[in-house]
Amino acid sequence: MLDYSSLLLAAALSGMCLSITMFAIWFAAPQARFVLTVACGILVLVAHVVLFWHYARHPSPWLCQIVLALLSLGFLIICLSAMQYLGVRDYRRAILPTLAAMAVCAGATYFGLDGVGFIVTYATVTALLSLIGVMFWIKGGGHDRRILLVVSFLSGICALSFVLCGAVLLVKGQWMLGVAPDNWAERLNSVVAVACMTGLGALTLSLHHLQAQIELKAETMTDPLTGLMNRRALTAFYGERVFGPFMSVAMFDLDHFKRTNDVFGHPVGDQVLRRFAAVIRKYARTGVDAFRLGGEEFVLVMSRMTEEKAYDIASKISVAFGAEVVATQLGPLRSTVSGGIGFGGTGGTSLDDVLAEADAALYAAKRAGRNRVISHNKASKADAPALRSA
Ligand code: GH3
Ligand code: MG
Ligand code: MG
Repeated sequence: MLDYSSLLLAAALSGMCLSITMFAIWFAAPQARFVLTVACGILVLVAHVVLFWHYARHPSPWLCQIVLALLSLGFLIICLSAMQYLGVRDYRRAILPTLAAMAVCAGATYFGLDGVGFIVTYATVTALLSLIGVMFWIKGGGHDRRILLVVSFLSGICALSFVLCGAVLLVKGQWMLGVAPDNWAERLNSVVAVACMTGLGALTLSLHHLQAQIELKAETMTDPLTGLMNRRALTAFYGERVFGPFMSVAMFDLDHFKRTNDVFGHPVGDQVLRRFAAVIRKYARTGVDAFRLGGEEFVLVMSRMTEEKAYDIASKISVAFGAEVVATQLGPLRSTVSGGIGFGGTGGTSLDDVLAEADAALYAAKRAGRNRVISHNKASKADAPALRSA
């Protein structure tokens, strides 16, 4: 239907349009640096296709070297963009082997073994595409898995089309070509590469939107002053949860904080809030989540923990904060915090109910003189909300 030149032209044109689209998107959202990297990678591949088209008409050893180098380089950049997106920082793992393969290819081509050069380059591209596929497959847990699996699939298909190109040359033993290889695998590769690269381009845009969405969501769930999660996050993560016997909520409220603000000023107050956040964060780990509810109120949700252990952690936080000293112009400032703990029940308790328990215990801690943690006593809960203090 289409001659080889038309196929190459279609590949170059579609790549060019894709690259321009990517550049425009990056221009509008410069923080999405991986989109810029993809755009650059595709541009290099477009240059490869145009020069390959020229090489097919006017073969020359030097042009062959450039064409092959551009192919490896283009896919290396695409691979780096994938690493950038997935947060895989060890770029050298892709760069060094690719550069080594490019050197081998250049050496072989220089000595007239341009067929070997093509085989090495196709192997390199296959490895890079496979790496992209594997990385998206493995690292995709936190993101939208469906999109990432499609990226993985398209990279795999594209890799396969390059394997076939190399395999045909290998099977035919075409170590020296002198001209551009032209066989069924090359033609199939042009079609598959255009389809896959267009698909991958569109998916890059989806990934960009996904990333922006994730960042925005994280921002709306984070308290800007302390960096802890906020009330919205508490509701999002635990609003629908049923609190069983091994789950508890500790609610903290800084003591006489209004006075701290009045005497030392608001900026010092902010510093004290950040200091408390740093203390509570030390105890946050898997199963222990810290939130700033608002003002000088904080919450620690503890899962898979006995009542005693939960009480122990809350007390340690209270003691550790009491030992903190904030340097101010009026001299060193020590602050204290009161805490109340509410527990989940065997029948299952809602977040609101556990929070209400913790709040009641906190109120009791304030009345009892502050600077202490009180936990809601389960044993006598049936009669009246009894409270236990240490
Ligand atoms: P108590 O020991 O009974 O808890 O007394 P308190 O003074 O801590 O309680 P109160 O609720 O009267 O005061 C809370 C203060 O927290 C009032 C408000 O100005 C201050 N506050 C709320 N948010 C912030 C903030 O982001 N930064 C600073 N510096 N102060 C804040
Ligand atoms: Mg308060
Ligand atoms: Mg307070």
